[in-house]
Amino acid sequence: MAGFHLDDTIAAVSTAMAPAGIGIVRISGNDAFEVADRVFRAKKEGKKLSAVKSHTIHYGWITEGEEVIDEVLVMVMKGPKTYTGENTVEIDCHGGVLAVKKVLEAVLNAGARAADPGEFTKRAFLNGRMDLTQAEAVMDVISAKSAYALKSSESQLRGTVKKAIRAIREKLIYEIAFIESALDDPEHISLDGYPERLAVVVAEQKKQVEKLLASADEGKMIQEGIKTVILGKPNAGKSSLLNLLAGEEKAIVTDIAGTTRDVLEENLVLKGISLRILDTAGIRKTADTVEKIGVDRALEHAKDADLILYVVDASVPLDENDAKIMEILKGRKAIVLLNKSDLTAVIEKEEMEQKTGAPVISISAREETGMEELEEQMKKMFFQGEISFNDEVYITNARHKQALLEAKKSLELTAGSIEMGMPEDFFSIDLMNAYEELGSIIGEAVGEDLVNEIFSKFCTGK
Ligand code: GDP
Repeated sequence: MAGFHLDDTIAAVSTAMAPAGIGIVRISGNDAFEVADRVFRAKKEGKKLSAVKSHTIHYGWITEGEEVIDEVLVMVMKGPKTYTGENTVEIDCHGGVLAVKKVLEAVLNAGARAADPGEFTKRAFLNGRMDLTQAEAVMDVISAKSAYALKSSESQLRGTVKKAIRAIREKLIYEIAFIESALDDPEHISLDGYPERLAVVVAEQKKQVEKLLASADEGKMIQEGIKTVILGKPNAGKSSLLNLLAGEEKAIVTDIAGTTRDVLEENLVLKGISLRILDTAGIRKTADTVEKIGVDRALEHAKDADLILYVVDASVPLDENDAKIMEILKGRKAIVLLNKSDLTAVIEKEEMEQKTGAPVISISAREETGMEELEEQMKKMFFQGEISFNDEVYITNARHKQALLEAKKSLELTAGSIEMGMPEDFFSIDLMNAYEELGSIIGEAVGEDLVNEIFSKFCTGK
């Protein structure tokens, strides 16, 4: 983030650049009020934003020279009780994308600098308004692919991760301090029997780290979409279904790195749920058509899927392929789709419900019916039922996971040293490593590089 100065006044559009009723231009910095005064003309003549009370709203126009750009509401907030901790002005524009852009231009011409990606949030962090976990959660909010992912980001903002990590760090620093003191003052503090006691603490805290790691894995699922596999025997209508789902939602087809051409990935959002559909059998018709593969290969990929969509051709009897698929459905999150409902059915809904224990929905990929019900069913499964995320601690960020793994490793090394009867000062080195790794997650004791790296990932306006 070259040219970064905390004393600049910065500005950016804070809302999505999309057709919407309102757009917000945010200005933050020492001169925010003066900059705003240069472009704002209040309805009440002579009113200056730099002279009004903090946290008040004012009606008027943004002008540049003689030209009136937009009718606006302006919110004036004095630091430090603002998002960034600095003087902040938010201009509520009413005129759509073009007006928002022109307002921003006027503000920039009046002396503000265009904010770097994530710079508002970076300032909030540097001014002590939020910790790193919260800042990263904001980044997740910005880039959340769906309302579903948004939920977990919000739970990070509440600081649940921070709390869990603080608790572990407190335990570790206590032991580190104890060892150091004992080594300093062996006459008064005895280390007799201490390694055994420490071993218990280390095992406990390792468990806590592992819990966080497990939630990191769940967070990953939420972040990147639910790994979904479509199964069904040849001609059941898998590709028709995928094309239908994807067609509606403008799917993005991507190659999965490191795999052969026969696995493609589709990302799409249904009812606010981000799905990552693994196109295991090349069922999506691509330009250089991939050959369809058999049920067996598809089943391999289905093993670690979060959700299975099982497509059944209801117009023909079940066969041994169906039997194989139903075997793998046991105990899995699955939805059965009785396809070709436009034809005469030879398979009944109740029959499939009994055979699979999964919800069964009649659809016709050709007639495009049943999609609404499918979407509702997914929503039900992921929002109300099987996955609950309200009270969980989620760590969605890969860096968090890396730090947790390092911390875990350091705790394991400590346990190893204890077991081998190493001298006490060996323990505190590894404990300190774990302590620092955990600290890097919540922004305590982090290097400038890391801060920059994280904030450069933010998009402008936050
Ligand atoms: P896949 O082999 O499972 O990918 O199946 P396809 O999607 O290629 O479909 C196989 C055949 O069934 C094609 O001729 C489709 O047009 C047809 N088909 C798919 N869905 C329906 C449906 O809902 N009704 C009818 N009548 N035909 C369908």
